[in-house]
Order: sequence, then structure tokens, then C-alpha cells
Amino acid sequence: MRYPRFLATCLVLGLAASCAPPVPAPSGNPDRITQASVINALMIGRYDGVNTIAEMLEHGDFGLGTLDHLDGELIILDGRAYQVRGDGAVVPVGPEWTTPFAVVTPFDEDGSFACPQVAGLTALESRLDEALPQRNSFVAVRIEGRFASLKLRSVHRQEPPYRPLGEVAESQSVWTREGLSGTVLGIRSPAWVGGLTVPGWHWHFLSDDRKVGGHVLDARPTEGRVRYDLCHDWEVLLPRSREFDQADLTPNLSRELKRVESARDPAPPRGPEGR
Ligand SMILES: [Zn+2]
Repeated sequence: MRYPRFLATCLVLGLAASCAPPVPAPSGNPDRITQASVINALMIGRYDGVNTIAEMLEHGDFGLGTLDHLDGELIILDGRAYQVRGDGAVVPVGPEWTTPFAVVTPFDEDGSFACPQVAGLTALESRLDEALPQRNSFVAVRIEGRFASLKLRSVHRQEPPYRPLGEVAESQSVWTREGLSGTVLGIRSPAWVGGLTVPGWHWHFLSDDRKVGGHVLDARPTEGRVRYDLCHDWEVLLPRSREFDQADLTPNLSRELKRVESARDPAPPRGPEGR
């Protein structure tokens, strides 16, 4: 029962900047993961927005995804939406903006533990999998802490005719930052969701000062707390369009998706600093 406590905190703090303007609590089932469209539609280049951010915020105050025209990485944290553009800039997202693919939930904490201090994201995921063995359910995780290093990426806005995501990802921006405080947001989906959403872990990051963010390719946490929210209900908002109805979403694109989403050893990236 997190929202009443949050509201009470805001009342106590009165005019505290972090509480104003108030963010309305999502009205959706707190145990539900809700997603806009399906990942295979994004994989084949369906980048036009299909749901507004306002609509997604009704379903959850926590989540990740991308924006209309594949315009960067989307982060939803504490009911506020942010865009990490292809050039790395972090900007607030308006409620009328749209998304072609996003996954959200009302973050309703079920438990927490100290963040393991590990050398990288693969080790972190293994430790979290041990701590959270409910592998056929969804789990939302937020890790607030300090990170010795973070390898982040974003993508540049695309224009039609759209190329498939695997091609676009080859020109993604990748950058590494050290000594940051912030929140790593993750959603773990069951391994069997292929074609519908991203199987396994999907991570985004937002710094405490809201100046650095992106899709996380690697992370080295030095301290922090893992808070998790187990989700046993899954809702998929299917686009209502002729384009969606005519798309062939049946191909098995799991290998391409894994390369796009993890890219732990990507093709030589061209980032904002040429890295
Ligand atoms: Zn992402």
C-alpha cells in the first residue's frame, strides 16, 4: 500500500519540491504489467506511437520503452516520464507524446534487499535471479544506488520508411559514465514471452540529477538497495490500426532481439563522443 504512504509523505512535506506538482497515482491493478503493442512489431520497424504517455501513466508509474519514431529511450519513474534522446540529453516527456512500445506497472513494493556489489550486469542479473526465483512471473525492480560505471545507449529518431530495429541498433549511441548516483529500472519477463515482449531482464537508468540516462548495457553497482515488485497479471494493449493488422508478427526474431537489447558486445558503436 504504497500510494497512501506516498501521499501522506507529500502532505507532511507540504511544499517540498519533490512532491510538486502532484503525480496522480495510477488507477490500474498494482499487480499488473501493462504493455503497449508487442516487441515483434517494434522489431520489424513499427515505430509510430500507438498509446499516449498519459494513457500509460494510468496503467503505471514505473516503466520503460521508447517513443514515437523510435525517438530515444523512455523512462517512467515515480509517475514522471523522461526521454533519453539519441544525443544523450534527458528531457521531460509530455502527456500527449506517444509510444510504439512501452511496459509499465504501478510500482507496489513487495520487498527489498541490499544491492549485490558485482563486476557487471550479467553477474547482477544472476544474483537477482537467485534472489527472485519467480521466473514465470514478471518482476519490476528498481535499484537506487551508486554505480562505479554504467554503459548506456540510446537510439536516434527515425523517419519512414522505417528500417528494422536490428539495422537501426547498429547506429545506436553508446556511452560510459563513472561514479553516478541514480536509479536502474528493470523489468524481468518470463523466458517464454518471445515475440510479445523482451524475455529476461530489460534495464534503463536515470541519474538522481535527471541529466544522464539510457538503456543499460552494463552496470557496476557499488552500493544501493534493490526494491522489487512481483507482478502476476499481464495486459497487452494491441494497436487498433490497419498497419498493425497487416503486419506479419509471426517470425521468430529472438536472436535479433537479444542482440538489440543486450548488445554486450555490439558492433563498433558510433556514440555522441565517437565511442
Ligand atoms: Zn531499452
